[in-house]
Amino acid sequence: MKAKDDKTAPPPLPEPLRVAVADAHTHLDMQAGTVDEALAKAASVGVTRLVQVGCDLAGSRWAAETAAAYEHIHATVALHPNEAPRIVHGDPDGWSRQGDRPGGGEAALDEALAEIDRLAALPQVVGVGETGLDYFRTGPEGKGAQERSFRAHIEIAKRHDRTLVIHDREAHEDVLRVLKEEGAPERTVFHCYSGDAEMAEICAREGYYLSFAGNVTFKNAQNLRDALAVAPLDLVLVETDAPFLTPAPYRGRPNAPYLIPVTLRAMAQVRDIAEEEMAEALARNTDRAFALRGPAGG
Ligand SMILES: [Zn+2]
Ligand SMILES: [Zn+2]
Repeated sequence: MKAKDDKTAPPPLPEPLRVAVADAHTHLDMQAGTVDEALAKAASVGVTRLVQVGCDLAGSRWAAETAAAYEHIHATVALHPNEAPRIVHGDPDGWSRQGDRPGGGEAALDEALAEIDRLAALPQVVGVGETGLDYFRTGPEGKGAQERSFRAHIEIAKRHDRTLVIHDREAHEDVLRVLKEEGAPERTVFHCYSGDAEMAEICAREGYYLSFAGNVTFKNAQNLRDALAVAPLDLVLVETDAPFLTPAPYRGRPNAPYLIPVTLRAMAQVRDIAEEEMAEALARNTDRAFALRGPAGG
């Protein structure tokens, strides 16, 4: 019983970073505890800012409201690639929370996209995402809606000069193709980067940011470490994607922004650079990737 409890307990606080950084992608609304608690815990180890990412209408509204209320939280808004087909097909078990069920069909997707467009114009909203393609969770029947939604999000990001945050799961080629066809926004981030070194070189040529999550620490993720090793340091970001993807050795336990130092230290090792140099680069890159102003962390 005790061992089981320990496995579901939050991991301990890592040693604080000496250079403050941001969590470039998190979902506070899916984590236990309050926003204030999450911010305080993160700040106590040098993670002083975060990007709160929306996945559906309710989550995007929440992200925008929360970013308006907290100086150190920045919002992105979107319909997740797995959410778009659910809106079109009217799946009642979708990601969406109650009150956001427009009724299905492409008109419903357009209605939801119009709301994302409205939210994207707000000053505290720095990005549009997470959007993209997910062929792991969504089957062939959802591909059309997913791509339509992805293209619309790219257009919204460009029109409002917002950073595009991409979710790409088992869809690398099509994501790169759609970006090329539509023309990528000036700032484009591959969140939870999942490609190999070859794709990292393509991203580098295009100037896309590669945002690494806790899975870069997983034993079986050598492809991610190879990608990190060849990526230009100026295009690398760190994120938690919390509550998901808790870094080793805490895999399976709840993730949160305060665990960024664990992933960051593993990344510094892959690059064979000092932790401080890694942190300084990541802080700078996050500012640039999301065009953040004001009190920067590094
Ligand atoms: Zn994602
Ligand atoms: Zn995410």
